[in-house]
Amino acid sequence: MVKYDINDTIAAIATSVGESGIGIVRISGKDALAVAEKIFLSRGKKKPSDFKTYTMHYGCVVKGAKVIDEVILTVMRSPKSYTREDVVEINCHGGIIALRRVLGLVLENGCRLAEPGEFSKRAFLNGRIDLAQAEAVLDIIRAKTDSALKISVEQLRGALSYQINKIRRALLDILSLLEANIDFPEEEISRANSKEILQKLNSVNNELKGILNTSGQGRIFREGVNVVICGKPNVGKSSLLNALLKQERSIVTPLAGTTRDTVEEAIDIKGIPVKIVDTAGIIKPRDLIERKAVQRSRRHIRLADLIILLFDGSKRLSKEDELLIRKIKIKNTLAIINKIDLRQNIEEVRIKERFGRVINISAKKLKNIDLLESAIADLVYNGKVSRSESVMVSNLRHIEAIRRAQKLIAGAVDSLDNKLSLEFPAQEIKDALGHLDDLLGKRFSEDLLDKIFSEFCIGK
Ligand code: GDP
Repeated sequence: MVKYDINDTIAAIATSVGESGIGIVRISGKDALAVAEKIFLSRGKKKPSDFKTYTMHYGCVVKGAKVIDEVILTVMRSPKSYTREDVVEINCHGGIIALRRVLGLVLENGCRLAEPGEFSKRAFLNGRIDLAQAEAVLDIIRAKTDSALKISVEQLRGALSYQINKIRRALLDILSLLEANIDFPEEEISRANSKEILQKLNSVNNELKGILNTSGQGRIFREGVNVVICGKPNVGKSSLLNALLKQERSIVTPLAGTTRDTVEEAIDIKGIPVKIVDTAGIIKPRDLIERKAVQRSRRHIRLADLIILLFDGSKRLSKEDELLIRKIKIKNTLAIINKIDLRQNIEEVRIKERFGRVINISAKKLKNIDLLESAIADLVYNGKVSRSESVMVSNLRHIEAIRRAQKLIAGAVDSLDNKLSLEFPAQEIKDALGHLDDLLGKRFSEDLLDKIFSEFCIGK
């Protein structure tokens, strides 16, 4: 990959391309104001190089005597800008031609087209945000629900970084205590000292574990919960899926890969992105195609975070129902009796015996669908999780770094407990610090940066 110069002044269209009210061309770098000066004619004939920081100016973008667009120009001077460099943003009319012409002119006058994510990469390299915060920018752009947005905004504001930095400082403190003792091997580590070190390490270990505990939750908000609807044919699986879609209306994304026998949809249920799969419902395959369908359904059921097991309330339990009652794991299964608008014949106690509780609904008449949704939400939130208080990690890279650090710290506790040479826990702490540094981007490789920032759009 070609490596571009970080000292170049870069430019890009920062808004999405298409017809819109306004569109923004963003410029960042040491020549940003000089470039603006060549193409911008302010109403009051003032020069961009005289503009104060965080001011907006009305005028025209011109090429020689020709006016290209009427615009508002915003100036944010270094170091108080997104990239910490001089930044100029030109608010143009939103049409694609106007934007392209303005961008073209900016490029002709000494800017280079920005790489994807290069503005955010500069914000990181110039020390305005750490790597976890830069990744939060991408998560904000991609957030599909309010909760996902909230986690990402907290991360951008530094909630996770603050906690990780605090843990880093604690570890550095412990390390210096240890090293003081390593340096004087003739003196036995004093009892008081070893107790203090152990206490501190245990507390760091608990903090890391605490953060990891939020990660399952965090990932759910980021990636969604996988819900599978199953039950024998004709119990109302498709009707239920439709009922949930109708109720929500906010279909997040139509998922690709819909097959003949399973239908997948992504919806937002009480702030949780939920991916729902409606399985074929075939229990005894008659031919090869059906056998394949059953295999796929089984796979979905195995991978599901939550299973909605559906029964037809108007009928007595069949052999197929009984088989499902026995086979489907109890944990995270919601047993639902459908068709309560019809005369009920089902042996409800049998289902209650196994699954603890049953929710009675009518998918066709849209009865109690909200009860089902609340039950789904309760299971996800576990009834207790207070989202506003805890820092959540949702990014796999962060979870992995924290998990590794935690393992090493647990190892350091063991080494101390077992009175191994102090060099062992010291090394484990150093390695753990390395993983936390990776998370924050205090230590990074070009490849990692490329991987992270290439996922951004151009202009961010
Ligand atoms: P699937 O095979 O499990 O996907 O079942 P469908 O959703 O295709 O429904 C099978 C039949 O049951 C259809 O005729 C639906 O209209 C009907 N049905 C589904 N839910 C209800 C309900 O709550 N009440 C009544 N009366 N009929 C329902």
